[in-house]
Amino acid sequence: MSRQYHVDGELVDRADATVHVEDRGFRYGDAAFETCRAYGGRVFLWDRHRDRLAATCETLGMAGAVPHDLRERVDATLVANDLREAYVRVSVTRGVQPGKLTPERDVDPTVVVYAESLPRGGTAGDPIWDGPATVRSVGTRRIPDDALPVDAKTHNYLNGILARIELRGSDADESLMCDSDGYVAEGATSNVFFLDAGTLKTPERGTILPGITREAVLEAAERIGVPVETGRYTVDDVANAAEAFLTNTTWELRPLGRLDGTAIGGGPVTARLRAAYDELVDRRCYTG
Ligand code: PMP
Repeated sequence: MSRQYHVDGELVDRADATVHVEDRGFRYGDAAFETCRAYGGRVFLWDRHRDRLAATCETLGMAGAVPHDLRERVDATLVANDLREAYVRVSVTRGVQPGKLTPERDVDPTVVVYAESLPRGGTAGDPIWDGPATVRSVGTRRIPDDALPVDAKTHNYLNGILARIELRGSDADESLMCDSDGYVAEGATSNVFFLDAGTLKTPERGTILPGITREAVLEAAERIGVPVETGRYTVDDVANAAEAFLTNTTWELRPLGRLDGTAIGGGPVTARLRAAYDELVDRRCYTG
């Protein structure tokens, strides 16, 4: 069966799933997107993803671009591809506009939904799932909020791409970016947490994409009684931690095995948080 994409309201075969060459998402990265996970056929924390997508569209001056039936389009894409455990990507671009850089007020967005199989617990044999992350702090600085609002999840991933290119020639698979002041911000596609004297710490908002997984982990920590602090931290703070892990929708909680050659890894608190996260997935997606 050929993979089905959902493009502008229609399910189409992969070979026919195309976007116009004048689409602003292609020309300028002028688009919002979300990456979600489906478990048991249900998209996990959908409302939060939809709200962040809508907020990104608003930041980009195209409020209202998210179609009202987006959830149905996502569900239809899962069904058409016979997927229950899946990685789902939703993009909303400013669409095809004939002019140059200045966007027109009227927006006819291009909306693409893509889904592929991703078993719960990950894909066996893939190092992302089989082992902890090997991380390097890189020279590329996180784009600051006053250049491109950090809360927005846009198609502009050049910052993270440059950070990942810096890993070439090393065994690292995630980059740790600092903000313009030299404090730890986030990974190219992940938020970072570490444990210091029993307190779970993570960089505060303002220089990071506020990840939906980060938020769920902070809530889980509160539920199970792990003290939490958000603030500004150095790379050494993370490297000297008792435990550390990365979060994103795809990886969930991924132990941070090594940072710049220093071994860290998960531990009992990471395991408890992981269990609390798994329990949330069970409750939201597999029961009721
Ligand atoms: N930071 C960046 C730069 C990311 O690309 C991602 C992945 N979306 C995250 C953090 C984690 O966000 P989430 O938990 O919402 O996937």
